[in-house]
Amino acid sequence: MAISLDIAHKHSDPLIKIAAVDDEAVAKSADEKPTLIGLDRTDLGKALEAVGVAPKQVRMRVNQLWHWLYVRGISDFDKMTNVSKELRNRLKFAYTIARPEIVSEQVSVDGTRKWLFRFPSRGAGKPVEVETVYIPEEDRGTLCISSQVGCTLTCTFCHTGTQKLVRNLTAEEILSQLLIAKDRLNDFPDADAPEGALENNSNRRRITNIVMMGMGEPLYNFESVKKALLIASDGDGLSLSKRRITLSTSGVVPMIERTGDEIGCMLAISLHAVNDELRDEIVPINRKYKLEQLLDACRNYPGLSNAKRITFEYVMLKGVNDSLDDAKKLVKLLQGIPAKINLLPFNPWPGSPYECSEWEQIEAFADVVNRAGYASPIRTPRGRDIFAACGQLKSASERLRKTEREALEKAQAAGEA
Ligand code: SAH
Ligand code: SF4
Repeated sequence: MAISLDIAHKHSDPLIKIAAVDDEAVAKSADEKPTLIGLDRTDLGKALEAVGVAPKQVRMRVNQLWHWLYVRGISDFDKMTNVSKELRNRLKFAYTIARPEIVSEQVSVDGTRKWLFRFPSRGAGKPVEVETVYIPEEDRGTLCISSQVGCTLTCTFCHTGTQKLVRNLTAEEILSQLLIAKDRLNDFPDADAPEGALENNSNRRRITNIVMMGMGEPLYNFESVKKALLIASDGDGLSLSKRRITLSTSGVVPMIERTGDEIGCMLAISLHAVNDELRDEIVPINRKYKLEQLLDACRNYPGLSNAKRITFEYVMLKGVNDSLDDAKKLVKLLQGIPAKINLLPFNPWPGSPYECSEWEQIEAFADVVNRAGYASPIRTPRGRDIFAACGQLKSASERLRKTEREALEKAQAAGEA
C-alpha cells in the first residue's frame, strides 16, 4: 500500500503524520507537495522516516540527500544515483525538490542580473513573485535575496515600503533564490548546466557573498531567514562563510542579539539619520526602537570585533540628511562601535518624494567620514537600467507600468546629467 504525507508546519517544527493514502495523492502536482528544500537535518530525517527509511539509516540518507541538494545542486530525484530506484520513487511520490518558475531574467549593461521567480503556494499562502539580484564585481559576486513580499514597514525613500506586506517567504523560498541563481550562473561545480545558463569555464565561484537586502525586513521573518542562512552556510553543503553573509535590518532591536547568537552572520543597519526626529520620519520603526536602543543593541552584537564590524547604511537624500553636520554627528554616534559606513546614493522610483544628493555633497560627506578613519564608503548603484538597485525592488505582482518606467528613466537621466 502506498502512503501519503500530511506535513503541517508549526513554527520551525514540522509535524509529520503518516496517513492512509488514496489515488488523489499520487496525482498531486509538484506545486502542492511538501518540499525537502529548506529543511534542517532533523526535519529532513523526519521526512525520510515518514516514507519508510529505517531509523538506523536515516543519518546516512540525510547526508546523501544533503550532498545531492546542496553540493551537487540537483532538482530531480532521479539524478540521485546512489539512492535506490525504489526509495527515489517513494521520495518523488511524497515530496518535491523542484525549483521555482523563472518568470524573467534581465541582464544589465554592467553585468548585474535580476530575476523574477514565481513560487507556488505550497501551503504557505498565496503564490508569490519574488525579485532576486546578482551583482558581479572584480573580486566577488553578491546575491541580494528577498525575505518577504512587500514590507510592513514604510521607510519613505524605499519602493518596497510602498507595497503592503503580501506574505513572509518560507525557508524554502529564501534558499531557493540562492539555488536557482546558482543554476543560472552555472555555479554548482559538478552539475550539468541547465539550458541557457551562463558559461563558466573558470573554477571561480560566481556567488561568493549573500546579502539579505532584497524585499522585506528579514528580522520580521526570523525563523525562516535563520533556517535558510544556516543551510547556506553549512560546511557540508553550500558552504558560504558566515562572514560573507550579511543581514540588513531597519532596526528590529529585540531580534538583533538572536541574529548574532543563532545565525552568526554579519549585520548591517539601515541607519539613514543621526537624530530620532528625522529617523522617526524616514525610518518609522524608529518610533518604536529609538536610536539609543538600536546602537546599544549594536554594541552588544555577539561576535562583534574589529575583524567583524557592523555595516551602517546611510542613504543620501538631498537636503534631508546630507549636511556636513550630519556627517560629523554620524561619526560621533558610531564612536566605539567597530563599524563600516556605506553611503548609498538614493535610487529614485516613480513618485518618490526625494532626490539623490549632489555628487559633490556625497563626496564632501564621505570626506568627513574618511577622515574619521572609515575607508571607501560610497556604494556605486548597480543595475539601474534594469531597476535592480537597492530599494527599487517592488514585486512582481505590481510591475512598473509603462508610464512609471518612463518617469523613472527621466528622473534617472536627470540625476546622471
Ligand atoms: N528591510 C531591510 C533590508 C532591505 S533594504 C532594511 O531596511 O535594512 C536594503 C537597503 O536598501 C537598506 O539599507 C535600505 O534602507 C536601502 N534602500 C531602500 N530604498 C532605497 C533607495 N531608494 N535608494 C537607496 N537605498 C535604498
Ligand atoms: Fe522595508 Fe527595508 Fe524598505 Fe524599510 S527599507 S520599507 S524596512 S524593505
